[in-house]
Amino acid sequence: MLQDILPHRLNNEYRPVPPSDDDLVFVFSEKGTNAMLRAFDDNGHLLDRPVTDEYPVIPRLLFPRILDYRQNVPERISSLIWLFSIDDCQVFLDAGPDPVLIPGYAWLPTKLFRRGIPAEFSYAGATAWHLKEWYISSRFCGRCGAPMRPDRKERAMRCTSCGSIVYPRINPAVIIGVIKYDSILLTRYANRPYKGRAMIAGYCEIGETPEQTVAREVMEEAGLRVCDIKYYKSQPWGFDCGLLLGYYCRAVDSDIRMETDELSEAYWCRRSDIGNVPGTSSLTNDMIINFRDNGADCIS
Ligand SMILES: [Zn+2]
Repeated sequence: MLQDILPHRLNNEYRPVPPSDDDLVFVFSEKGTNAMLRAFDDNGHLLDRPVTDEYPVIPRLLFPRILDYRQNVPERISSLIWLFSIDDCQVFLDAGPDPVLIPGYAWLPTKLFRRGIPAEFSYAGATAWHLKEWYISSRFCGRCGAPMRPDRKERAMRCTSCGSIVYPRINPAVIIGVIKYDSILLTRYANRPYKGRAMIAGYCEIGETPEQTVAREVMEEAGLRVCDIKYYKSQPWGFDCGLLLGYYCRAVDSDIRMETDELSEAYWCRRSDIGNVPGTSSLTNDMIINFRDNGADCIS
């Protein structure tokens, strides 16, 4: 999955350090859907079209370094935000207004991070995007409206007037593999750009456990009662500012009553009909593959 980057390691203990020439800078376009980078295809040529299922290259990604900033936009270096490190490489964020495109780089879709290499920098990109969203949403205090400033000791924003502290916002959500005999409940979203196979999913509400979220979401979206709810794996998913919690459960009922506002399709898919699952970066695909290969054992 996206976060599986061994032997590399993303270290996010809060220890800001001054930038060095080889350190990385992540910078995103104003709308946030593009990142500044260079991408090459399998033959080492600059990527000239979007990566799709029909054009399934593994893009090799190159990100700007502090040296690029020193040579092109040195005035922006003092406002860079330290984020974390990948092994010994420090990672910074340029969250300033009017980001400047450095010569040789381009604004390319952040979804390249889902299958780009080196994998550790793709994962760093998704995590940097999540932090960027939090930093730019936390510029002003929600209690009194005064400017917020980064705290010196921990990853937090502190109000310059009332002292209110805001910690990084992470939205917990569940992804649910609902099993009935040798079938799993697969879905497609009704109103989202992603049109591939999905499973029932939803955000945890305040005041409920993830297991309660599982039961509520399956009832809301598919009209099914469930039992034997079992935790599987988790995945930080910076693209949605989320933390995904994967669960399997058994359906008590068989007849699906689909919520049509959320879903365009919900159906029981037999193990033998799952077939090839493109991409292994997402928890959803990992869970579908696990069920295909292990059947109901994944819940026992
Ligand atoms: Zn305040």
